[in-house]
Amino acid sequence: MTDLLPFADTLDEVRVVFAPGALSGIRQAIDDALAARCVMIVSTPGRSAMVERVRSQLEDRAVATFDRAAGHVPAALVANALEEVKETQADAVLAIGGGSAIGLGKALALRSDVVLAAVPTTYAGSEMTDIWGISDGDRKTTGRDARVVPRLVIYDPDLTGELPPEVAGPSGVNAIAHAVEALYAHDASPLSSTLAAEGLRRLAASLPLVVEGADDPSAYNDALSGAHLCGRALALTSMGLHHKLCHVLGGTLNLPHAPTHAVLLPYVTQYNADGAPEAMATIASCLDVPDAAAGLWHLNRELRVPPTLQSLGVDASQLSAVVEAVVRQPVENPVPVTADGVRTILEAAMDGGPPDARTTSLLRDSGRPTRGPHQRG
Ligand code: NAD
Repeated sequence: MTDLLPFADTLDEVRVVFAPGALSGIRQAIDDALAARCVMIVSTPGRSAMVERVRSQLEDRAVATFDRAAGHVPAALVANALEEVKETQADAVLAIGGGSAIGLGKALALRSDVVLAAVPTTYAGSEMTDIWGISDGDRKTTGRDARVVPRLVIYDPDLTGELPPEVAGPSGVNAIAHAVEALYAHDASPLSSTLAAEGLRRLAASLPLVVEGADDPSAYNDALSGAHLCGRALALTSMGLHHKLCHVLGGTLNLPHAPTHAVLLPYVTQYNADGAPEAMATIASCLDVPDAAAGLWHLNRELRVPPTLQSLGVDASQLSAVVEAVVRQPVENPVPVTADGVRTILEAAMDGGPPDARTTSLLRDSGRPTRGPHQRG
């Protein structure tokens, strides 16, 4: 493993509790980890049953509920929620739900003095990272800040039993995308790569069972713990072209986050294959298939995630603007990011066919250099 040297890791003090039924101990966990008196509960609409369970556990600690969190964390919603924080004098925010609820919680932790706790109920992994994002119209600003890291994270796999398959599948592939990019990140470390590989292995084995609604508690445990590990790997590394492309598509065309990740991942993986052979071998081994990109494409089919960018509402006429925006924002990636390369990936994702030679041929034919064998894969 000498190719993972040298490395540097930073680990924050975060209390993580993982157990089926863990939600029932939330009041004690908050008292122990946060010493908070006034908690505002944040969720997306439709999660009222979960919110009510938390509210009844927290009793007098729960001073407000804000159930209007939305994808990409709109600035107007952050402003509304901040007013409630001030009015209720909340000193903690507890976000329960997926990345949208946790994203709003992070924005509140960034813009006020509240401390954040999270109960993640999808596989997005945001709860483990210091990455925040706030969108305003078609502009999404992101950053990294230690203040947004939840100080308490409670994983209760029982809460994921009712995830609809159309949420569970793409969300799981979103987590897998963190692992894929962590494995070939320029700043990968032995810890981040171990977390990523184990998270990917658990998710690949369990997601098909979760999506078919199997009566198998270990599948839900494995999927959520796999997502946790992938979130940790995301926190420790810098993401490459795949996350950049999804960020631009999400921000400019307002596409749904997890389905966009799912559609693109096989094609970006194929594009990066020649520049990251070791990472590709690890990904293939975790998926138990001969080829990483093809394996990810087949997993997508098995999970019945949206098959193409077209199915997410993208029109071919919109691709040029996306290509331009992506190449304007430099990103560390195993293979150089070029306009031709990005366009090829997007066109392949519009078609939805297997990620065959089309996505790599441009790169190979052009003779452009890939990351050399002396660099980390
Ligand atoms: P989401 O939070 O929007 O959830 C999708 C849908 O699933 C929502 O309708 C939600 O109410 C519902 N849902 C959530 N949990 C459920 C459950 N247990 N049962 C039934 N329904 C449930 O989507 P997401 O994919 O979890 O998160 C996407 C957001 O997360 C994006 O804004 C993205 O930018 C952000 N994200 C951030 C990071 C980070 O590190 N900052 C990492 C990954 C994702």
